[in-house]
Amino acid sequence: MRTHTRILVIGGGPAGSTAATLLAKEGFEVTLLEAATFPRYHIGESILPSALPVLDLLGVREKIEEYGFVRKGGAYFEWGPENWELNFNHLEGSDTYSYQVIRSEFDKLLLDNARENGVDVHDGIRVAELGFDGARPVSATWTRGRDKDDSGTITFDFLVDASGRNGVMATKYLKNRQVNEAFKNIATWSYFRNVKPLDKGPEGAIAVCSVPDGWFWAIPLHDGTHSVGLVRNAAKFAEQRQAAGGDLGKVFFDAVESSSRIKDMLAGAESVADFKAEQDYSYSADSFAGPGYVLAGDAACFLDPLLSTGVHLATFSGLLAGAGVSSLLREELTEEEALGFYTQAYRQAYERLLILVSFFYKSFSRQSQFFEAQKLTRRERHMLNLYESFLYVVTGVEDIADSKDSALDAVARRMAESGHLFAGENEALAAMPTSERNAVGGIYLVFEPRLGLRKRTGVTEPQPSPA
Ligand SMILES: Cc1cc2nc3c(=O)[nH]c(=O)nc-3n(C[C@H](O)[C@H](O)[C@H](O)COP(=O)(O)OP(=O)(O)OC[C@H]3O[C@@H](n4cnc5c(N)ncnc54)[C@H](O)[C@@H]3O)c2cc1C
Repeated sequence: MRTHTRILVIGGGPAGSTAATLLAKEGFEVTLLEAATFPRYHIGESILPSALPVLDLLGVREKIEEYGFVRKGGAYFEWGPENWELNFNHLEGSDTYSYQVIRSEFDKLLLDNARENGVDVHDGIRVAELGFDGARPVSATWTRGRDKDDSGTITFDFLVDASGRNGVMATKYLKNRQVNEAFKNIATWSYFRNVKPLDKGPEGAIAVCSVPDGWFWAIPLHDGTHSVGLVRNAAKFAEQRQAAGGDLGKVFFDAVESSSRIKDMLAGAESVADFKAEQDYSYSADSFAGPGYVLAGDAACFLDPLLSTGVHLATFSGLLAGAGVSSLLREELTEEEALGFYTQAYRQAYERLLILVSFFYKSFSRQSQFFEAQKLTRRERHMLNLYESFLYVVTGVEDIADSKDSALDAVARRMAESGHLFAGENEALAAMPTSERNAVGGIYLVFEPRLGLRKRTGVTEPQPSPA
């Protein structure tokens, strides 16, 4: 293990491996420390098409393509009284698809690719503590496995904290993680064999089926199993779990009775793994960057899994971090400019999706208290920095009463337009801040001649601050 590195990345999930690979490809010395030994289990199997152009930039797309993951053509929703198919092709009119992945295998492919691109990757090594020079993190103390005696210190010039929900910087040092009042849910899930395949929606679709106080996902995986999970209000979940004597399976199967679709799919199936449970409260750090560091992926913010946006946000922020940190270390922009762009571009992507998820729940809120409880509070709406993005989403969705579209169609249209989530490869990149027209705070991403940031010519507006 080196004792000094130019860039330290904490965490080898999609955010960390994306940022690390892109920075190594730009010629920087990058060290990545990952607490778990890979391959490691992770929830979050359904990927959106928007992640694919980033896989291309990483140079790992072909390997992912050949690996044999289930091709995902879209989603099928049974959402309250509506049945609804989201076919990625219909939205963009191109050959748009994505994958349903076993995350341990997908994340390992990305991390191995980081290694192949020159990142000094160490898994089984946990960052235990960070050292600071004022507000700037400058060193990390690590331990190997559980052995406290096998430890050391590494100093660095720049830190990418991609430590996921652990959020080393945000939870331990900045203490600036805010949990949303909306989406206070808990998920429980398991893996099943002999699930009756979904006979609705595009091939390889995720099924999302509401029940009176929550919803199920069912995701087909390439090893012949399905990931099937239930999302429920946290307080209600705790009550039901207590009533079930702590038996997660009982909570799950009681709810299955309320969804004829999931019940039918699971009729001849057997569970092949223990039930797991995880709080999936949505949260966001007050700031995503500061002197000498950025927070990427779940380490910065997390969004309810309803629209399967987690890996998209992780790889998108990894791309922003790769470009932003490259430009600031090459001194093409000041640290304030590069980190200001990073914060604003990532927050904008997150907040637009947060609002869309809220609208998605709201489209069904008259049906039950659970769906009503997912609405953003007035205070949360006002806290959103990008009031403009809120307006952008609201316009067009709020007036669905006048439209022939269903609420879900309207939300999907907005997702396609604003979140570039379902776009084909070229369109997805074009919708990111990759041109003067889409500049964020007067700055945009460039890929040629090198990955980095560029200022719009004749910028007059003030640059955003990292906070
Ligand atoms: C119930 C549920 C369902 C979900 N479903 C989906 C879905 O269908 N699709 C989707 O896209 N997303 C989904 N997500 C979200 C998705 O799992 C995450 O958003 C995504 O994994 C974030 O990637 P990341 O790289 O930021 O973090 P992670 O993938 O969590 O990676 C962080 C890594 O950091 C490591 N680490 C942590 N602390 C330290 C430390 N101190 N030192 C060294 N390493 C450390 C961890 O071991 C981990 O490997 C779901 C989430 C939940 C809770």
